[in-house]
Amino acid sequence: MELRKDPITRSWVITGDDVIEPAPRHLTCQFCDPSAEPAQVVANLPGLDGSAWSARSVVHPHALYHIEGEPTRRGDGLYDRMGSVGAHEVLLENPRHDGHLWKASDAEVEQFLRLAALRLQDLKRDARFKYISIFKNHGEGAGQEFDHPTSQLTATTFVPRRVLYELRSGREYFEAKERCVFCDILAQEERQNLRILEICGDYAAFCPYAPRVPYETWIMPRSHEASFERTGSSRVGSVTDLASLLRRTLQRIRTVTEAFHLVLHTSPNSQHPSATLGYWKTLDEDYHWHIEILPILEAKARSYTFKEIYYSPVTSETAVKRLREAKI
Ligand SMILES: [Zn+2]
Ligand SMILES: [Zn+2]
Ligand SMILES: [Zn+2]
Repeated sequence: MELRKDPITRSWVITGDDVIEPAPRHLTCQFCDPSAEPAQVVANLPGLDGSAWSARSVVHPHALYHIEGEPTRRGDGLYDRMGSVGAHEVLLENPRHDGHLWKASDAEVEQFLRLAALRLQDLKRDARFKYISIFKNHGEGAGQEFDHPTSQLTATTFVPRRVLYELRSGREYFEAKERCVFCDILAQEERQNLRILEICGDYAAFCPYAPRVPYETWIMPRSHEASFERTGSSRVGSVTDLASLLRRTLQRIRTVTEAFHLVLHTSPNSQHPSATLGYWKTLDEDYHWHIEILPILEAKARSYTFKEIYYSPVTSETAVKRLREAKI
């Protein structure tokens, strides 16, 4: 496998002719069945109430990126390519096979969030990695890979395109106004109260003004913070509020549809800021971490097959009413 860059959109694609074996259909769960071959454990959080662990990170059994080696970026005429160096981990959210985030206790969800923060801190120490993505694909139509409650993590030698757009916009807005665009968005949303789903302590859940899909929902800290991994250490007690808001938001979304994508957007690795590009100079002030949840509505799937212009047949004002009223 190798990475190639599209010279026009500047996005990287991972490509190769390696045959990807379809994952063998496991009759038993490869993460919690005692007879399954043990996964390669990367990190563990201590168990709650006597269990061996509460949240755990393991190497992905069919990893797309591999930790060894140097990415060695090479030119090919006008093109750019590099090796698929990185990390690909499965984050086990709960030791229980049915311990999904929306069914778990706040303390269990909190352990998962702490594991995510821990992995981000650890992987950001590796100067080869420019960005660490944490995401979850749940349900048919979302590309769910495992039955066990899991999220995934990839550490890459490039910043994914969508995050790059956000970083550029954040920086430009900050240059013009000396304010964080995300803080300004949330302040206006709270003032107008048209699209706010729920406020829980220092966290807010809301449906964005221009959604990409119906019922798209974001969770964001109300105080400015660029890096998710600093959340646990900088503010005492607030991880519990975040855990509880995440759990309830997923419960609400699941009254509309079972399948969703969830992605955490946090600051890139700023260990080696580029002096010439001035990229991450104001990063701590101009970027603001958040979680994006993109529900997948089967019936409406055909409507947004055009990837260039998003089409949402439900406005965020209508979506938020329905989600607020959901019995959870
Ligand atoms: Zn399991
Ligand atoms: Zn902010
Ligand atoms: Zn984002």
